[in-house]
Amino acid sequence: MKSLGLALLLFGTGGVFAQNKEAMVTSIVQEANANSQLEKYAFELIDMIGPRLVGSPQMQQAHDWVVKKYSALGAEARNEAYGEWRSWERGTSQVTMTYPRIKSLEGTQLAFSPMTKERGIEAEVVAMPLFGSQSDFQSWLKTVKGKIVLIGMNPISGRSDANWKESASVKGYEKYQSLKNDQLKKWEGSMSYTGSTRRTLPLALENAGAVGVIDSYWTELPGITRIFDAKSKKIPVFNVGLEDYGLLYRMAEHGIKPRVSLQGNSKELGTSKTYNSIAEIKGKEKPNEYVVLSAHLDSWDGASGATDNATGVITMMEAVRILRKVYPENKRTILVGNWGSEEQGLNGSSAFVEDHPEIAKNIQVVWNQDNGTGRIVRIGGSGFEKSYEYISRWLQYLPEDFRNEIQTSFPGMPGTGGSDHSSFVQKGIPAFGLSSTSWDYGKVTWHTNRDTYDKIVFDEVKQNAIIVAILTYLACEEPALVSRDKIVLPIDKEGKPMIWPTNLQSKRTSGN
Ligand SMILES: [Zn+2]
Repeated sequence: MKSLGLALLLFGTGGVFAQNKEAMVTSIVQEANANSQLEKYAFELIDMIGPRLVGSPQMQQAHDWVVKKYSALGAEARNEAYGEWRSWERGTSQVTMTYPRIKSLEGTQLAFSPMTKERGIEAEVVAMPLFGSQSDFQSWLKTVKGKIVLIGMNPISGRSDANWKESASVKGYEKYQSLKNDQLKKWEGSMSYTGSTRRTLPLALENAGAVGVIDSYWTELPGITRIFDAKSKKIPVFNVGLEDYGLLYRMAEHGIKPRVSLQGNSKELGTSKTYNSIAEIKGKEKPNEYVVLSAHLDSWDGASGATDNATGVITMMEAVRILRKVYPENKRTILVGNWGSEEQGLNGSSAFVEDHPEIAKNIQVVWNQDNGTGRIVRIGGSGFEKSYEYISRWLQYLPEDFRNEIQTSFPGMPGTGGSDHSSFVQKGIPAFGLSSTSWDYGKVTWHTNRDTYDKIVFDEVKQNAIIVAILTYLACEEPALVSRDKIVLPIDKEGKPMIWPTNLQSKRTSGN
């Protein structure tokens, strides 16, 4: 009841109205606590369907699952095609050291990596050295023919920083930090002479006659590695975890000439259509005005995309489930966008905005969630001048302990592409990222081999579903569409006014 007084104050003459809102908020919280479906949604999406790489058969299954679930909630749901993409299906991956002894290694094909022959390829492994110049790199390139090349830096320690800090002497920790920084600087300097990045280097090696590439993209926690996509055309590119990678690297450096067999049974399935999964619950008073719940459905496929971004998807689904039950008379249309292909450049959401000017011009607000499993603690105004007025007012209705933790920054700055709300902001639509506490997102789950169901903190996801449901309800009830006025952006280094970002464009084909 504490916040009732505040609500009455804010609404002044609309006291009864405010009281109804309080009652609705209470119902939302009760429904979320009594009948949560989050664990069921998570199991179905993350464990049963699994990773959702754009163009893959599993991505299609995920789209169909979303449509089925929202239809069951009484929404009008559909998959909307907006382009096509190379269709690649992950198979089994095996990495085996065959010389100087047999050892299975922890490794996997990168997404979109060419497959190997059925029985794999076997070759000597060489470690890419440090280069002092471009010509250094060019002459080394002549030596890689027929070899499998290790292209990642081999870190000096496989222990986490926290572990070092806790257990090393002060002097030992400082020494480690300085060696670590040194190594990184040297490695980056050397990479600059290759004229490539770790993603494009395999193609240069392929052209020089290498038969395979192994990378290792350690996140600074034991066992955890990032798994992106391969840009080679013919030779396989694998990721091997730091521990096994280091083994190969040291052997290569000692002149042992280790040998490895790479076996990757992925399938090329041509191209498949790309979709956004859209669900709508028509507004009962203003069906042509929209409150948009946004979360990308696709993921990288090193694990199962649990916190990037199944948690965002199930948060929106649970929020809608709650609202269907306690707020069936939604005034505006609630539209859920589960975008395809965020990971390749916000392609699904920007295609949606491009393809639906009639919806875009009548959007009240967009709530986007895409940074892990943690509870929402930061909301910025995305550069909309009046965002302060309506978001602050709406936040007053959250349960006090949720609200007290949320830091706001108004008017904030327009997003330049971190996640899907940027696709809307760039068209001048009030769209906001709901940012979470980290749970070490960057090192544990973001695009890693460990982004799995067990990393979800369900109580925090439940809190987010409540927050989204309340904010969505209030945005539906708001008497008029909120202001779209933009701030005057700051001055850049040259003294010119900055320009509102408009560079996002949907990529509708993979170009392969
Ligand atoms: Zn994401």
